Amino acid sequence: MMTNLTDLGVKAIRDGVASGAFSAVEVAEAFNANVAAAGALNAFIVTTPDHALASARLADEARAAGEPAGLLAGVPIGMKDLFATKGVQTTAASHILEHFVPEYESTVSQKLWDAGAGMLGKLNLDQFAMGSSNETSYFGNVISPWRRNDGSNAALAPGGSSGGSSSAIAARLCPAATGTDTGGSIRQPAAFTGISGIKPTYGRCSRWGIVAFASSLDQAGPMARSVEDCAIMLQAMAGFDPKDSTSLDMPVPDWGANLSGDLTGKRVGIPREYRMEGTDAEVLKSWDQGIAWLKDAGATVVDISLPHTKYALPAYYIIAPAEASSNLARYDGVRYGLRDLPDGAGLQDMYAATRAAGFGDEVKRRILIGTYVLSAGFYDAYYTQAMKVRTLIARDFADAFTLCDVILAPTTPTAAFALGEKLDDPLAMYLNDVFSVPASLAGLPAMSVPAGLNSQGLPLGLQIIGREFDEQGVLNAGLAIEARAGFVARAGKWW
Ligand code: GLN
Repeated sequence: MMTNLTDLGVKAIRDGVASGAFSAVEVAEAFNANVAAAGALNAFIVTTPDHALASARLADEARAAGEPAGLLAGVPIGMKDLFATKGVQTTAASHILEHFVPEYESTVSQKLWDAGAGMLGKLNLDQFAMGSSNETSYFGNVISPWRRNDGSNAALAPGGSSGGSSSAIAARLCPAATGTDTGGSIRQPAAFTGISGIKPTYGRCSRWGIVAFASSLDQAGPMARSVEDCAIMLQAMAGFDPKDSTSLDMPVPDWGANLSGDLTGKRVGIPREYRMEGTDAEVLKSWDQGIAWLKDAGATVVDISLPHTKYALPAYYIIAPAEASSNLARYDGVRYGLRDLPDGAGLQDMYAATRAAGFGDEVKRRILIGTYVLSAGFYDAYYTQAMKVRTLIARDFADAFTLCDVILAPTTPTAAFALGEKLDDPLAMYLNDVFSVPASLAGLPAMSVPAGLNSQGLPLGLQIIGREFDEQGVLNAGLAIEARAGFVARAGKWW
């Protein structure tokens, strides 16, 4: 029987191309066809079938010539539309950057092309990566391929902000994609759609050429359907970049080759403060299941305390908007994208008109909050205070990691919610990030892996948080869960 090429992951495609089981062009054509047929999911802002095909041809030619193959030779991927791609529209899902075509390539996307990957298209996201449901995109929300099993057919959120990435991977429109995570945007959408994703240590992947949201938190990472595929993608994406002053000058390990699900001698910390009110009973049950799986993999389980957890979310929603208000000041109608110049208007009017028309409501809300918390009268009360909390949270983790090697927690307090459900209540939306934000504030590597389905038939994710630079420990614990969860469920095709 012929394998369905679009069911294959990164490693299987790369190895199949290398062995000649199929050609890279066949793979690219199969994914291009799936992408073209999945308009209903709205996962892509632009598709780039020719880019995917051109890279595939190069991979096939290199193989025919007997040249050594790159880490991702012949693998077509999706690119979150927050990464600048030379000659291809880069919008951050905003009106203000609509029609912006960069003259340069982001470091991470360049590394992926250098490794032999091709691009199927630019993936939809929450506008400027601000959101948890993909509903803030100027180009319309992405829809999750998943549906509840109650026959209601309610359209569900794919998570955010990397919701185009999560939806596309779950629906087999691409084997892997890039994501970015400022407060959970790789992990939460991965959890909502039954896939894996890792936010590496802050600084592992260059931020150069990624549209900035909150620069002290923004971090790129891979999303895919297996832990090993995430490891391979991350290896291609990571590495020192002199163009990013916060880039880590450290060697990039071969995380894939060093993967091991044997956790003998490892200690897994269970943070007691994460047993919080409002967390779904089924999420708590899956957390207990995760604990049992890691014990089965040889780990010892220890109770730990992260005492400042309850302050993480409020601190994040001060720090991230503060940095956003500063970063987004560059969109003034002069340098990139949209320019709204009313008749007879002066310079100030042009700035105001461009920004009023170009930014969506959530982006405006963040700019207003950020400007307020940075203003002379309130800076100490809000911003300085939040930065102190950030230090305490990092210290909580440092203390905990004297007692354990990795931390296990849920990724999100609930499974995917319906589109529209939280749209009028920003606080309810922000609460979704309660388990993902602390690791972001501390700059630690953290990943989500699928743990199973809830009673409504929707995926639940488990989160593993590791020490600084210990992506290997995080991936290994992820692999131990993956091997035991045996997650093979997929969304029934309706699109
Ligand atoms: N949902 C969070 C926010 O809206 C996180 C977003 C992200 O990580 N980019 O800020």
